[in-house]
Amino acid sequence: MLEFLPPIILECPDCGEVYVVSNPLNNKPSEKRIAFSDGFFIDELNPRVPGIIGCVTCELGFFPENGKLIASPEWEEFHEKWAHLKRAAPPSAGNLALELRIRRKMDEKTEKIILKEFWYAGNHSDAGRKLLQKNEKFKKFWAKSLERFEELLNAENNYERILKAELNRQFGRFDECLMLLSSFTDEFSEIIRKKATAGETEVFRVI
Ligand SMILES: [Zn+2]
Repeated sequence: MLEFLPPIILECPDCGEVYVVSNPLNNKPSEKRIAFSDGFFIDELNPRVPGIIGCVTCELGFFPENGKLIASPEWEEFHEKWAHLKRAAPPSAGNLALELRIRRKMDEKTEKIILKEFWYAGNHSDAGRKLLQKNEKFKKFWAKSLERFEELLNAENNYERILKAELNRQFGRFDECLMLLSSFTDEFSEIIRKKATAGETEVFRVI
């Protein structure tokens, strides 16, 4: 744990609720990380910082860079004063759908951040999976949102190109997926390529 910098404490700009957020300078995975093919991960020692944080008090979402930094404690102070606070988590799948519907004139960067969290909510949260199973309207909106996300992902950027390939695999568009991956030779791309070649569309655990 000490190999990581202590979390920082951010305040919701709308209501003042406070959240524990992994230090953005911690960018390496811990040995406990569980990673998935869409880039989502669970890491109890260095938790993922959501692209947008859901405030449980005012129910609005805020971007970590807009949160007010109220403390950047050392580990000892963190354990004494802050460790009991809530960990920042993304808004629920339903609230992310609202964010996408309500926000007008979003710039593309903001839209991509929310769409990625919405993708993850459908793939990885219980609430999101339940909505996809039981709510036809939500399922349609999710599918439409992912089409939009795919359109926005820039194939010129390596990170986004891999996400775009994985999204196409999940859509069942295996040729597009393989075409996008053709310039990559790394291990991660190779696993996605294998799944696409086998005709598999499910999100899967990579480590
Ligand atoms: Zn709030």
